[in-house]
Amino acid sequence: MIKKYILCLGLCIGMFMSQAQREYTAFDKAFHSVSSNEIMEFVYEMCKPEHKGRLAGSPEYTRCAHWAANYFSAWGLTPGGDNGFYFQNFPVQYTDVKDAGVLKVKGEDMDVTYRMPDDYYPGTHTASGVLKGEPVYVGFGITAPDLGYDDYAGIDVRGKIVVIEPGVPCERENQAYARWDEFYSGSVYKIKNAVSHGAAGALFTGKFSHPGILYNDGFIYCHVSDKVVNDLLTGTSWTARILKDKIRGDKRPHSMVLTGKEVEMMFRSFHAPSQTQNVIGYIPGTDKRLKDAPIIIGAHLDHLGCPGILFPGALDNASGSAIVMETAKAFAQSGVKPLRPVVFILFGAEEPGMLGSKFYVKHPLFPLEKTLCMFNLDMVGNGTELRVGGVNTFPELKKYFTEANEQYLRRILHTSDYSKASGRMYTDGEIFNFNGVPAFSLGTRNKVGRTYYHVPQDVPETLTPEIMEDVSKLLYTVLCKLACDPHIRLSE
Ligand SMILES: [Zn+2]
Repeated sequence: MIKKYILCLGLCIGMFMSQAQREYTAFDKAFHSVSSNEIMEFVYEMCKPEHKGRLAGSPEYTRCAHWAANYFSAWGLTPGGDNGFYFQNFPVQYTDVKDAGVLKVKGEDMDVTYRMPDDYYPGTHTASGVLKGEPVYVGFGITAPDLGYDDYAGIDVRGKIVVIEPGVPCERENQAYARWDEFYSGSVYKIKNAVSHGAAGALFTGKFSHPGILYNDGFIYCHVSDKVVNDLLTGTSWTARILKDKIRGDKRPHSMVLTGKEVEMMFRSFHAPSQTQNVIGYIPGTDKRLKDAPIIIGAHLDHLGCPGILFPGALDNASGSAIVMETAKAFAQSGVKPLRPVVFILFGAEEPGMLGSKFYVKHPLFPLEKTLCMFNLDMVGNGTELRVGGVNTFPELKKYFTEANEQYLRRILHTSDYSKASGRMYTDGEIFNFNGVPAFSLGTRNKVGRTYYHVPQDVPETLTPEIMEDVSKLLYTVLCKLACDPHIRLSE
């Protein structure tokens, strides 16, 4: 008994000693340096009017990229871009929409001049000029011979202004949805289809901005609210909502010329080929075998610009970019000597179609086949719970996240199974996934208030700074361990 007691006492003293002697390490210091305050300072900077909504190809985006690269440099990250700099440059189409322009509708007893941003936004790639024309409602604006569907059948839109709905006439649960979505849901396709039918311009309904539309010479368009569509439909027996539901329900077109109405649009824009960039910095790997087998952490820095009104893009994606920057800083200061490189990328031109990540996978800094994995952060700034997508399929990796959360954060952590990207892609992570690099998305759940998507109301004040700090701490902790694991393999 006495022996047992002495043993116990000895253990307790030992534990106490080891606790008392536990140093406050560089790892701890860097962990606790991650702050919601600094993350929000980054967000506010990116959202400033002088960066004009960080439009790919604009000088203001490039200025913002320089601002971020200066931090990468100050934190001691090795440049991973062209010619020993932080920038990986690539070409992009650039349209600078100068002001709000004009949108009017005239008809019998109707002469309305609309207000921006209440009722419309100029198209992000609209041509410059004045356009007057008869409006034609063309539903989803789809011509799909393979699916036996044509919104333009029997209707002449030459020289007219088509009114196009977003989406497809098929429910998500339907087996055919993937085909509809991949080939016919994109706004680039819809404009192309309108142009090929001879339309002179378009009104996109569902008033939020679609940045992916390509510039078409002379083609003038804007995004309009339901109010504008309802005004155009006066004199018919339809409202915007009922008509759209009808097409969805019947799965057949209900296109119509809106006779007696005239739409007038006037926009001023400047279009030119341009250049934009990914910002890349990394901490080199120390292991001979693993020094070209990196982990990549990415977020897109670009947003929708300032087409007549500032789109600050706080959630989309100053939030993810700020978390990547804060994590890069903490990792660089952690004292951790990773076995494999840890690469931080702020992607350019995600909004017009993930051009930055597509360029990277064609011109990777380290071989893609050796890249362990990619973590993508896109719109990570509203909620109280954590989410890591795709890790359930990789238990070793999942353990790093669950342990880090249990030890340091104690938030509710959602995880999901991995699925191979196919069909139409929506994120930079999916581009890596599709190109054979396991890619996982970090996000948040349990929203606090409203989420604003592709509208000028997406401002820093709508973010939840505390969860952003915890996402960064989670990522930081996992990276410190994962980058020093010589054995991990991510195979399904
Ligand atoms: Zn976006």
